[in-house]
Amino acid sequence: MPGRSTLNEPSTRDELLDWDRRHYWHAFTQMAEYEPLVIERATGCRLVDVDGREYLDGASSMWCNVHGHGHPRINAAIRAQLERVAHCTSLGMGCDSAVRLAKRLADLAPGNLDHVFFSSDGSSAVEVALKAAFQYWRQCHGTRPEKTKYIALGEAYHGDTIGSASVGGIARFRGIFEPLLFDVIRAPVPDPRTLGGMLSSATADVSMCDGRKSMPTVATATEGMPPPEAAAEHFLHQLEQLLEEHHEQVAALVIEPLVQFAAGMVMHPAGYLRGVRELTSRYDVLLIADEIATGFGRTGTMFACEQEDVVPDFLCLGKGLTGGYLPMSATLTHDRIYEAFLGDFHEQRTLYHGHTYGGNPLAAAAALASLEVFDEEQTLVKLPAKIERLAEHLCALAEHPHVATTRQRGLIGVLELTPNKATGLPYPAEQRRGWQVCREALRHGVWIRPLGDVLYVAPPLAISIDELDYLMNALAAAIDKET
Ligand code: PMP
Repeated sequence: MPGRSTLNEPSTRDELLDWDRRHYWHAFTQMAEYEPLVIERATGCRLVDVDGREYLDGASSMWCNVHGHGHPRINAAIRAQLERVAHCTSLGMGCDSAVRLAKRLADLAPGNLDHVFFSSDGSSAVEVALKAAFQYWRQCHGTRPEKTKYIALGEAYHGDTIGSASVGGIARFRGIFEPLLFDVIRAPVPDPRTLGGMLSSATADVSMCDGRKSMPTVATATEGMPPPEAAAEHFLHQLEQLLEEHHEQVAALVIEPLVQFAAGMVMHPAGYLRGVRELTSRYDVLLIADEIATGFGRTGTMFACEQEDVVPDFLCLGKGLTGGYLPMSATLTHDRIYEAFLGDFHEQRTLYHGHTYGGNPLAAAAALASLEVFDEEQTLVKLPAKIERLAEHLCALAEHPHVATTRQRGLIGVLELTPNKATGLPYPAEQRRGWQVCREALRHGVWIRPLGDVLYVAPPLAISIDELDYLMNALAAAIDKET
């Protein structure tokens, strides 16, 4: 058509915005209010839109970008792989890059998680763990076919497929689908804030900012909250009651270790994860650790489980696995589980699950390169200085008259808004203050996305101190403007 570009020719900015509005149904987005934001390129921690405007990627492109965008090492690895093979199946064969990656992940993962099943997204990695746990009890030594249920935490998020959404506990996401979801035994969300004054006799009111000299691994404005040991003990006691009652029927417990991202960055009390491991072992319940969001350095260590010396029975990885370059996820497990799936073909012990692009060579090459960048750039070694700087910014923001609380774990900084610092109560939800602040931040060249009214930053681990300052100053300016 004269005067109009075809789909194969470069399109104009206006066409892109128009097509975006009309044809692109975006994830987790109310399309009636969607304002197109079309990204054309990205380098380092900055995204660039079709108008040439730059945005600091304050949420790591939904918690997956690790080393920044356009990293030459990862780009080169993908290109080199492309010259060899772009895709081959993982059904009965596999590419050499995926083989190398399986070995690398087995070496890297905590404990003896030596067997790696590849999928393409986090939800599927959780589905694999759920199904494999179920099947395990039907064919393990001394079978326990009555073990068919799962325990999951309140406010959990494990993905959007029907199985992973069933173990999810966020009402806003589950609500409408409730009739489709299977029943789950729900343990209370281990959020120390829900205890309020309940354990107040033991209350510690040490603010993360009072006299803080060294970098906290976890820093929470703890006024009025119980000390972590008391909180952990409280929630573990509740969990034990559930296990006592139901363990005979429970195949597995699924948990996001240390931080429940989608719940609003809920941070568990220290010791809870270790306690969960002890209890699940004692009650013969498999432990599925969903490290899709926490994995690959986000909480300060390669995997969150390391911080409490926990080896789960299944470890689910995704997001940062490829550095945030290509879709890939993995479900790792140990010999005892794996061996229950071995046998004569006719015994029907095979795990009948698989995805077309599981173990994709390009994604595997990106993941291998990302892990090399971790070593070459000493990503985890450089992290504490950034975590410390983030803590300083959060301490300053904690003084803001409209900031109720702040909390931090690794390179995740969180704050909650209030119209009244004395009560700390949130703004009425219909005002969508968190959303307004994020829109204002965009005008300052920063992309962040709220979780309800919870504001957080989770930038690429590669962010520089200067960029971190820019990010947090823009956030502060946006809060000033919108509260
Ligand atoms: N588990 C957790 C903890 C997550 O944060 C997510 C994604 N936000 C998922 C599972 C699902 O991953 P995906 O979106 O890749 O399916």
